[in-house]
Amino acid sequence: MSKNGKLLFKDFNPYITSPFGNRIHPITKVMKMHDGVDYGTFEKKLPVYAIEEGKVIRTGYTSQNGNFVYVEFNRLGKNAIYQHLDSIKVKRGDTVNSNTIIGITGKTGATTGIHLHFGWFPSSDQNKDWYSKRWEDFESYDYPEIIKYLGNPVKRDISKKQIEVLVHELRVRNSPNGEILGYINLGIYDVLDVLEKDNYTWYKIADDNWIAYNEAWEVLYEKEVEQDDDKKEKEDEQEKIDKECKKKIWYKIIDFILDVFKKVLSIFKIK
Ligand SMILES: [Zn+2]
Repeated sequence: MSKNGKLLFKDFNPYITSPFGNRIHPITKVMKMHDGVDYGTFEKKLPVYAIEEGKVIRTGYTSQNGNFVYVEFNRLGKNAIYQHLDSIKVKRGDTVNSNTIIGITGKTGATTGIHLHFGWFPSSDQNKDWYSKRWEDFESYDYPEIIKYLGNPVKRDISKKQIEVLVHELRVRNSPNGEILGYINLGIYDVLDVLEKDNYTWYKIADDNWIAYNEAWEVLYEKEVEQDDDKKEKEDEQEKIDKECKKKIWYKIIDFILDVFKKVLSIFKIK
């Protein structure tokens, strides 16, 4: 479970429907900044909490944000915004702590489903206009846990006629550009047929099951495990080099001692 999710929802385990950061829309390919983290609640209206001691600095409603609350978390030097609330349970000037309910999740404002949009930015930027705020990734700022990467959704191995799916829930269609049948999981799949169509490469992975690939099509995905493996490999390599170096130093010391010994011996022999 996400640590931040735990702070915001306590016993409930939300899922991240949209992470923080630049995101290229897979169809329109338009780059858009998502200045917060979206927590899905399986369409439930649930209480959301202050993450620690703080002060409510503003509450209100806009057609974009819906019912929103700004909370200043002094110790962290951060201000947070809670958006799309069904109802607000605090008022301006209230002091809050980790047991204070800020509001109830909803779908007020510009949203299609019930979720909490939680934004996070330095307190010093509070009075700057919206676009000049130095928004930061809440999920990686104080409690690093989820690493997202931009990359292609699939990786080809031409020599093996296989394709590796790198993202969760890649769409599967009954034909190129056809109807969506469902979603495919991470893994390596045999390629039964290939078809180029409208800048996309379509791969047939089963009877009437096609997935699409486009080099320009980049998506966000988690790559934690791979990164950890890389890191471990590098660490192991460094350890090997270190051991080798220590060995060499010892050999040199032993050589030196032997040399001195020989010299001393030769002196005695001459006498
Ligand atoms: Zn959002």
